[in-house]
Amino acid sequence: MKVARFHAPGDIRVEDADEPVAGPGELRIRVRNCSTCGTDAKILRYGHHHIRPPRVMGHEIAGEVVDGAGGWAPGDRVQVIAAIPCGRCGECLRGRMTVCPNQESMGYHYDGGFAEYMVVPEKVLAVDGVNRIPDGVGFAEASVAEPLACVLNGQELARVGEGDDVVVMGSGPIGCLHVRLARSRGAARVFLVDVNAGRLEAAASLVRPDAAVHSGEGSGDVVDQVLKLTEGRGADVVITAAASGAAQEQALRMAARQGRISFFGGLPKDDPIIRCDSNLVHYRELTIVGANGSSPAHNAQALRLIADGRVPVADLITHRLPLPEVLDGIGIVSRGEAIKVTVEP
Ligand SMILES: [Zn+2]
Ligand SMILES: [Zn+2]
Repeated sequence: MKVARFHAPGDIRVEDADEPVAGPGELRIRVRNCSTCGTDAKILRYGHHHIRPPRVMGHEIAGEVVDGAGGWAPGDRVQVIAAIPCGRCGECLRGRMTVCPNQESMGYHYDGGFAEYMVVPEKVLAVDGVNRIPDGVGFAEASVAEPLACVLNGQELARVGEGDDVVVMGSGPIGCLHVRLARSRGAARVFLVDVNAGRLEAAASLVRPDAAVHSGEGSGDVVDQVLKLTEGRGADVVITAAASGAAQEQALRMAARQGRISFFGGLPKDDPIIRCDSNLVHYRELTIVGANGSSPAHNAQALRLIADGRVPVADLITHRLPLPEVLDGIGIVSRGEAIKVTVEP
C-alpha cells in the first residue's frame, strides 16, 4: 500500500509499505479521508520532537473498520482522535484530558492516516477515542471533527456564549471553524481579522462574519477598528487563531471589560515571549486562557455538531487530493491557498 512518511525536516516521502496488521485489542481501518492542517506544514519544515522517523503522518482521520475489536465490526464508519490521553494520571482522573502530561498522538507516536490502511492502537480504544460517524456525515466532513474538537475545547475554556461579541484573529481553517462554532453557541456578533486581505476575503465569503477586518499594511490600527465595531466596548472574547505574538498583544488591547482572551494558536518555540500590560488584565478583569488540543469527548461532540448542522464543515473542504499528492496538499496549506485540504488515500 501507499503511505506518506516523515523521514526528516523537508523530507516527506510517498512510498510503498506493507499493510499493517492489527494486534490483539487493536482496530484496523481503511482510511477514507485524512485532512491536513498547519501542523503538517510545521512538521514538514521543522520536524517534531515527538516524531521518531520514519513515521506515517496524518492525524485528522476517518475511515472504515476492516478488522474489528472493542465492539467495532468490519464496515463500521469511524472517526479517530488525534491526541491520546493516558486516562490514568491526575489530570485525566480530574477530567482534564487535554493537558494529560503523558499525551501521545496519532501520526507522531503511532503511524497516522496518510495511508491506505492504519492500525488504531489499543490505547485509543481504551479512552473511547473511536467515534461512529453519524449517518449523513461523509468521511471528509468526519475528518474535520478533530480540528473542530480543538476549537470546541478553546471556546469552552474561553466561555464563548449567548450575546458575546467575538473577534477571531486569523482566517485559516481554524479561524473559520471558530466563527461557525461561536455562532452556534449564541454569539451576538463575530468579527474575523486577518493580515492577508485575499485570504480574509475568501474565508469571509464562506463563513460570513458580521465584519471582516483587514489588519495588514495600510489598514489602520486593528484595535481601533474593533473598538469602533463594538461601540467602544471591545470584544467579550478574542481568539487568536494565528501563530502571532503581535496578534496576542492586540487581542489583550481589544478585549472588553471582563473579556476572555484565548491564545488558541501557539507561538514559535524560539520566540514565545509577548508584552502584556498587566494593569489591563487587573483593572478590566480579563481572563487569558490557552488551548491544547482536544479530549475524546470533544471529538464525539464535534461529530454531533457537524451531524446536526450546527457547525457545517462540508463547504470548508476546498481541496480533495489522492495520497500521492499529499505534499502538494501541505504546500497549498502552508501558502494559505485553501481552507481545508483533505487527502483520500
Ligand atoms: Zn490538524
Ligand atoms: Zn493522563
